[in-house]
Amino acid sequence: MIDYIEQVLNDVKEKNVHEPEFLQAVEEVLHTIKPVVEKHPEYKKLSVLERMIEPERIISFRVPWVNDAGEICVNRGYRVQYSGLIGPYKGGLRFAPNVNQSIMKFLAFEQIFKNALTGLPIGGGKGGSDFDPKGKSDMEIMRFCQSFMTELQRHIGPDVDVPAGDIGVGAREIGYLYGQYRRIKDRYDGGVLTGKGLEYGGSLARKEATGYGLIYFMREMLKANGGQSLAGKTVTISGSGNVAIYACEKAQMLGAKVVAMSDSSGCVYDEEGINLAAIKQIKEVDRKRISEYLNYRPNAKFIERKGEDSPIWTIKTDIALPCATQNEVTLNSAKKLVENGVIAIGEGANMPCKLDATEYFLEKGILLAPAKAANAGGVATSAIEMSQNSMRYYLSFEQVDGMLETIMVNIFASTQDACNTYELGTNYVAGANIAAFTKLAKATIAQGII
Ligand code: NDP
Repeated sequence: MIDYIEQVLNDVKEKNVHEPEFLQAVEEVLHTIKPVVEKHPEYKKLSVLERMIEPERIISFRVPWVNDAGEICVNRGYRVQYSGLIGPYKGGLRFAPNVNQSIMKFLAFEQIFKNALTGLPIGGGKGGSDFDPKGKSDMEIMRFCQSFMTELQRHIGPDVDVPAGDIGVGAREIGYLYGQYRRIKDRYDGGVLTGKGLEYGGSLARKEATGYGLIYFMREMLKANGGQSLAGKTVTISGSGNVAIYACEKAQMLGAKVVAMSDSSGCVYDEEGINLAAIKQIKEVDRKRISEYLNYRPNAKFIERKGEDSPIWTIKTDIALPCATQNEVTLNSAKKLVENGVIAIGEGANMPCKLDATEYFLEKGILLAPAKAANAGGVATSAIEMSQNSMRYYLSFEQVDGMLETIMVNIFASTQDACNTYELGTNYVAGANIAAFTKLAKATIAQGII
């Protein structure tokens, strides 16, 4: 008899044929939770998996806006409200030309597990648009954000659904989105968006949270495996956006030597260690390409990206932190990293490793910090921002950073616990999935047939 998990997976594949990223995310989770499902026959009886996999709601809408040339442009907006089981829907907004329903669903699906791991009362969601912010003027970005929010505001609220940033949505976009929301609603709903500016309800340490959290998780994972530390280790980090920059900052603070960072055009290799102030200037202030780095450090090298495999993964390193986007580590890249002696991978981006690359790392005994656990610091700190908004109060940087650190230590501990309980060794991918799934399954059953 075909087992419950395979039966659910086949159904999901049949219903979502054209959604490869979504199927990839579901397949990874379903294959790792087998031991828990086998232990709990009631899950099948109560259709727990089917209910967890079908999103509560998907909203898709038209976003018309006017460019600087006076032309009317139309993009597609999304909000996937995946699960409100343990709190308001929570998850970022992504503006990138490749955004589609499959990518939105995979991100929202992963978000429910990630949010469960934080231990905070937040459900899972994700949204965005196929709008490409690259090359757009500031006024075009503003007009787009205003139009996007004109529709989105009907579906969100501080106790309903709380979006934040993601790729292409940073502090500037959150500001424009929040301004339009407030104008339409005409009331203070600070907790409706997170990642806000500090002047109007943002939280200290939110900007740093995902990157710092990733390094806190990595620190715990290394400590638990032979008492290793980041000090003196060589690190490569893909991306040079929010997650990558603050992962670099914390890694450097803990004594690691970051030798390479990238963007979609290629990577820079700086043997003496990345000058993060230069990267911040290029990316956060000037919004330019990473090759500009050579103007600051003429001895560094720029390696252009050609094809699917990012050149950054050919650089010899102890620790690799993919912090750019999904599926950026192919099996080829994984083989190269292992050949060059990598000891640990930390997923800052969501689903950055292809399934076969993940399997290869695990097979070779490489420590792999999975995204759902390792990059949960961002959303956890967003939840702390929501609490501050409700309290009408501000916490200091040290307070928020301290809470973030505790949350990441706890996430590692529950991941390790699941690994111990189910004899998974150092398969933290399975450990994190099981820890989150167990909580979500209990909540599903507790709330009846919903
Ligand atoms: P940003 O937009 O700030 O930065 C994204 C970086 O990734 C840029 O350097 C960008 O380069 C690069 N990148 C984007 N798309 C591609 C691509 N197709 N190929 C190669 N490089 C690419 O985004 P974030 O740093 O916020 O997000 C990065 C990842 O982390 C995403 O997977 C996101 O979902 C995840 N994440 C983010 C959180 C957050 O708090 N921000 C929380 C948890 C996860 P370029 O400028 O050339 O496009």
